[in-house]
Amino acid sequence: MTAWLHGLYLKLRAPLILDNDFFYPTLYALAVETSLECSADRLLGYSQCLLHTEERTHGCNIRVLGNSELLSAIENCSVTNRLPQALYHNRFTLHYQAQYTAEGNEIVGLEALMRWDEPGMGPISPAKFIPAAEKNGMIAPMTIWLIEQICRDIKTWADAGLTIPKIWFNLSAALLGEPFLTRQVLNILKRHDVSPDSLGMELTETSLISDAKNAALVLSQMISAGIEVAIDDYGAGFTSINSMFALPFNQLKIDRCFMLRSLTCLDSYTLLKSLGEVMQTRNISLVYEGIETESQRQHAEQLGANYIQGFLFARPEPRDKISALLASTPA
Ligand code: C2E
Ligand code: CA
Ligand code: CA
Repeated sequence: MTAWLHGLYLKLRAPLILDNDFFYPTLYALAVETSLECSADRLLGYSQCLLHTEERTHGCNIRVLGNSELLSAIENCSVTNRLPQALYHNRFTLHYQAQYTAEGNEIVGLEALMRWDEPGMGPISPAKFIPAAEKNGMIAPMTIWLIEQICRDIKTWADAGLTIPKIWFNLSAALLGEPFLTRQVLNILKRHDVSPDSLGMELTETSLISDAKNAALVLSQMISAGIEVAIDDYGAGFTSINSMFALPFNQLKIDRCFMLRSLTCLDSYTLLKSLGEVMQTRNISLVYEGIETESQRQHAEQLGANYIQGFLFARPEPRDKISALLASTPA
């Protein structure tokens, strides 16, 4: 099938000349080897949708999908297609997960996590809709919505007389190249009369690797504007400590898998132990996330954790539950 399509492309690839301009054809073919019942019209619809969601290179793009790949492509397409409507109809909400001191006696921060409950589809995981939004460009308006919503929630908590810890939001790597990103964030804060030091921005270690130049620029712009920066999911990539120190940041969040590995693997333990010592000398806070048990908490504390985030202390919760949590916990 692939060879046949490739042959077709070779036959079609001569440039078209229109108004003295050359146009080179791009072939995007979706071949499906499936036992699923599916009309030709539907398949055409799916392939058109894939055309808009897949990353394509110029020239000939051929993919042959089997049953399970087709089902997941269909699901991704319907997630992708519904994103603009979901934003327009206010179907996104924010949950917040509290971050505690290593001993667990004080809340030091809240991480804002997006939620989407779509009628007819139920809750959709951010692990699905964030990558879809990154591919179709919806991540920019969704991030603006997110920062606006954080500002509205800060206002609600402030009006209720609550002490509000720093609120951390996740920045997608897809936005690192946006030329006016920092200015846009600061404009939103100004409009809502929220101080930049109320916010912190998390950027994953893998985003740093994927777009190092823009990441360095955005991190320093945010920090000079008063917004602290955390490197998220550290240990999921392979960044050396030395190359990390070329970047400005205030907090390092250790990936849950790295923490779990260090429970059984001496090399990982030794690495995390020395990382804890280095961070202390650099005045960078160390956060262990994904802590579910008391023994994991003690382990993280031994490794030099300043702060802890995880189901042991708190799950991500909607604004009203966070109001009650802030009211009942000394901050
Ligand atoms: P993340 O930034 O690493 O967020 C932490 C994730 O770990 C959250 O999943 C949270 O519910 C989960 N978690 C927290 N404590 C525990 C624990 O003790 N055990 C386990 N197993 N998991 C724990 P969630 O909310 O499903 O988010 C998944 C990812 O989606 C986030 O990972 C983040 O990368 C992305 N995400 C969520 N909201 C946003 C957003 O607003 N913008 C962007 N760009 N990404 C977002
Ligand atoms: Ca995060
Ligand atoms: Ca994380």
